[in-house]
Order: sequence, then structure tokens, then C-alpha cells
Amino acid sequence: MIVEYFRPKTVSEALSLVERADVKTVYMGGGTSIDRFTVEPLAVVDLQELGLNNIKVTASNIEVGATATLQSLYEQNKIQNDLKEAIYREATRNLRQVATVAGTIVAADGRSPFITTLLGLDAVVTVMPDQEQIDLGDLLALRSEKFANKLIMQVTLHLKVDLAFGCIARTPADTPIVCVAVARWLSGRSRITVGGSGNSPVLVMDGNQTDADELAMLDVYQPPDDQWATAEYRRAMSRVLVKRCLSKLDRENPR
Ligand SMILES: Cc1cc2nc3c(=O)[nH]c(=O)nc-3n(C[C@H](O)[C@H](O)[C@H](O)COP(=O)(O)OP(=O)(O)OC[C@H]3O[C@@H](n4cnc5c(N)ncnc54)[C@H](O)[C@@H]3O)c2cc1C
Repeated sequence: MIVEYFRPKTVSEALSLVERADVKTVYMGGGTSIDRFTVEPLAVVDLQELGLNNIKVTASNIEVGATATLQSLYEQNKIQNDLKEAIYREATRNLRQVATVAGTIVAADGRSPFITTLLGLDAVVTVMPDQEQIDLGDLLALRSEKFANKLIMQVTLHLKVDLAFGCIARTPADTPIVCVAVARWLSGRSRITVGGSGNSPVLVMDGNQTDADELAMLDVYQPPDDQWATAEYRRAMSRVLVKRCLSKLDRENPR
């Protein structure tokens, strides 16, 4: 339950508000997940006046401000088509117009197509107070109390990376049961991530490998059984999806 609302005009004001000890105070991006499941009194610091919603394209990267919405990133014509597909599958258009990139990074679970793909692209997150740059993979592991007072300022994505995304869900609009992202750099480096279950998507490979080795790396993937699928089904489907992604990359961008 939200009991206090602040809309600071500076980053330092926002940082000092969440450090208050008397009432639990959290940043608010789009606000679509904050009030969903909590009855504890909560103060929110709305980030919308901090000017963090810009999206800047540089020669090889795209720098996405923390409060840019999923829809505004979706509408960028410089991003990979399969990143667009993952954003499209993340949420309905109404939600995409409100939910922010940073809010989604903090709130999303392992079923998120967007976070699975960002992890594949080896996204880097800039956080305050120290302007620290953290790999998304490290950040996902720390998304609990340790991360509580840090403010995400920006997410940087590599643009010169070929990307393929694949997913299996009960219906075309449903959250994935299994999804994978395969990212391939000109240097030959590839990353494979698998989502669709648990608290966070999983990185199963990062390195220079052949397609056969890339598939072999999937043996380390140990998904859970849950109400949507068995672990065995997820393991089998993740192989199918990775094969499809690898063929797509080989077809469209032979190495
Ligand atoms: C009808 C509905 C259906 C939904 N379905 C799903 C679903 O199927 N799967 C799913 O994963 N989610 C779902 N959500 C939750 C939510 O839409 C998403 O997680 C959304 O992407 C959150 O983005 P936001 O900007 O609204 O985040 P907010 O609600 O504003 O914030 C989410 C978290 O991020 C923190 N935060 C926000 N911005 C920053 C920042 N810059 N720095 C540090 N911390 C920050 C907040 O403190 C909070 O802890 C749903 C929500 C609704 C309303």
C-alpha cells in the first residue's frame, strides 16, 4: 500500500529519499508492479522528472535511460529484430507503454523474454550513487536487499551483435514456458541464455564455440519442474530452440 509519494527533480534528492530509515521507500518507474502484492506501508519515489527516459544510439551501442518505456525501446529502428520480438512478448501494448526498462529489470522473473534477451546481449547497467557499471548477469544475482537503494540510471546494449530469440508458450501472447536468446559477436564470441522458469534467466554459455559445442553446453541447464512444465520438457525444448536460433543466425549472418 502506497502511503507517501515523492517526485524529486534531482538524482541526489531521489537517492536521499530512499535512504530514509523510518518508512520503506522505493523507486518507482512505471509503477505497474510496485503495488501489486504488498500490503506493507510503502513510500515511492517517482523517477519521471529526472530526465532518464532518453535513448541514445552511438556507433556500436544503444544507451537506454532507466525510465524509457518498453514501448519506446520497441519502437527504436536500430535494435535487433529479435530484441523487438522479445519486448513484444514481454507485455501487452498498454503495459509496455507504462513499464520502464529499469523497473522490468528489477521486477521480472525468469520467465521474462526481455531479460533473457538482455542477458544474452550482455547488457551493462549503470547505477548510482557511484556511477558503477555492472554486468546485468551480476546484477540479476543481487536483486534483493543488497540492491535496494541503488538507482539504475541507464542500460547499455551492444548493437553490432547478431541476435536470435525463440520461445515456446501455451499461446502466442502468453509468458514463455521456455525461451532462449543466442547472441553472436563478429569476433566469434557467442552467448546463450535460457529463460522460462525460476527467479531469473540463466546464462549457459559465453565464449567462442562451434554450434555442436554450443548445444553441448545446454547440458548444464537444470530448470525446475513447475505448474507449467517439467524440467525434462524444458531441457528438450531449450535444445530445439537453440538449434533453431543457431540455424537462423547461420542462415542470416554466416560466420
Ligand atoms: C496487469 C499486469 C500484468 C503483469 N504481468 C506480469 C508478468 O506476467 N510477468 C512479470 O514479470 N511482470 C508482470 N507485471 C509486472 C510489471 O508490469 C513488470 O514487471 C514491469 O515491467 C515493471 O516495470 P515498471 O517500470 O512498472 O516498474 P515499477 O513497478 O515502477 O518498479 C518495479 C521495481 O523496480 C524498482 N525500480 C524501478 N525503477 C528503478 C530504477 N531506476 N532503479 C532501481 N530500481 C528501480 C522499483 O523500486 C520496484 O522494486 C504485470 C503488471 C500488471 C499491472
